[in-house]
Amino acid sequence: MRLLKYDVVIVGAGPSGSSAAKTAAELGVNVILLEEHPRAGIPNHCAEGLSLNGLKDAGLEPTEKIISQKITKARVYAPNKRFLELTSSNWVGYTIKRDVFDQILSEKACSAGADYFTNTKVIDVIKKNGTVAGVVALQGDEKIKIEAKVVIGADGFASVVRRSAGLGRWFLDVVSCAQYRLGNLKLDEPWVNEFYIGSNVAPGAYAWVFPKSSEEANVGLGVRRVHTDSAISYLKRFISSDDRFKEAKILSITGGITPVSGAIEKFVSNGLMLVGDAAGLLIPCTGAGVHTGVVSGNLAGKVAAESIEDGDTSANRLAEYKDKFQETWGKRIQDSRKVVEMLDKFDDEDLNLLAEVITSEDILALANGHDVARVVSRIVRRSPIKIMKLLAAYMRS
Ligand SMILES: Cc1cc2nc3c(=O)[nH]c(=O)nc-3n(C[C@H](O)[C@H](O)[C@H](O)COP(=O)(O)OP(=O)(O)OC[C@H]3O[C@@H](n4cnc5c(N)ncnc54)[C@H](O)[C@@H]3O)c2cc1C
Repeated sequence: MRLLKYDVVIVGAGPSGSSAAKTAAELGVNVILLEEHPRAGIPNHCAEGLSLNGLKDAGLEPTEKIISQKITKARVYAPNKRFLELTSSNWVGYTIKRDVFDQILSEKACSAGADYFTNTKVIDVIKKNGTVAGVVALQGDEKIKIEAKVVIGADGFASVVRRSAGLGRWFLDVVSCAQYRLGNLKLDEPWVNEFYIGSNVAPGAYAWVFPKSSEEANVGLGVRRVHTDSAISYLKRFISSDDRFKEAKILSITGGITPVSGAIEKFVSNGLMLVGDAAGLLIPCTGAGVHTGVVSGNLAGKVAAESIEDGDTSANRLAEYKDKFQETWGKRIQDSRKVVEMLDKFDDEDLNLLAEVITSEDILALANGHDVARVVSRIVRRSPIKIMKLLAAYMRS
């Protein structure tokens, strides 16, 4: 078996892993990034929505190379199809080219000095005296052992690193998604992202239409909790119920899982950090994880490099990463999860009522976990009794 030695080994060249690799390499430590596929970003399991802030935190500008469509409005449809419109005075969004985005981030990691192996699938972590000390990977039939002072698991929701290191087999709550890339469309307003909620459309989650141009869009949905059918069956019904998609051509089909139970309890241990989806670091209400992945990767890469410099890669030292992440994004993830749990208590009729009293600013804040307690108490004041009681569940939690 081939043996390699690095300061930091990073598993997975998604947004989290490439960000971690770039940051650690820039700080002068010896880094290797491992990706099981031939190139980063393919296959692409994403609706490709990203804010300008998300792009900026990834060190990128909204250039034509990365962006398919600028988004200046969002519409959220209640089950009765009444909708609320969010304009972009508080946010700027894009439908990105996620394959290109991931590819560029992996290239930036290499330019910063990281070594990069594609077609390399990690199958286990190496442990020495209870400390994670590297990984075992397969390159074709060849097994490679890579020893490292710090391992960063950036290998997505099904993370082999998380499972083999004993930090958790699965999440308490996930959304199962299905998505078509549809072509041959004639969208009147390609700058509008659409979200649809309701038990007939996407039980426990939502359906989305994210235009990539007036001719093309990512149209998908997630299902969660009680659903009577698969995500793809709900999606087929959703698409056939909308006349705009009558002549559509299916360009590709994808799917995937988003963990929405919030950050796992333990995502740092001796010699190990988990970032992005591997640690459940998504915004539960929206299922958005690219921005949080980049932020967690940047932080983990920095703490990994600094702890190596200090000669201390114990869980205590690496916990600086978790603490810093929790300070900045942890509360938002936690609060957004509480909103998910609160909305679980609403039936379709309640959601229709809520749509009568909620404002677009409220939706934006609730979905993204911003200032949630204040927003909920504001909505309570203008709600009918039934909704007031349901919202009170959040106030009590
Ligand atoms: C249908 C769908 C739509 C979504 N839409 C959006 C959206 O619009 N906006 C948004 O912000 N988020 C969205 N998300 C969530 C987002 O895609 C994830 O949160 C994000 O990709 C997390 O990044 P990551 O780097 O942590 O993991 P990933 O992007 O999953 O990257 C993990 C990488 O690790 C590699 N890997 C896995 N196992 C191994 C192994 N054993 N060895 C080596 N390499 C390995 C994988 O090939 C992959 O390249 C969506 C998710 C789904 C399922």
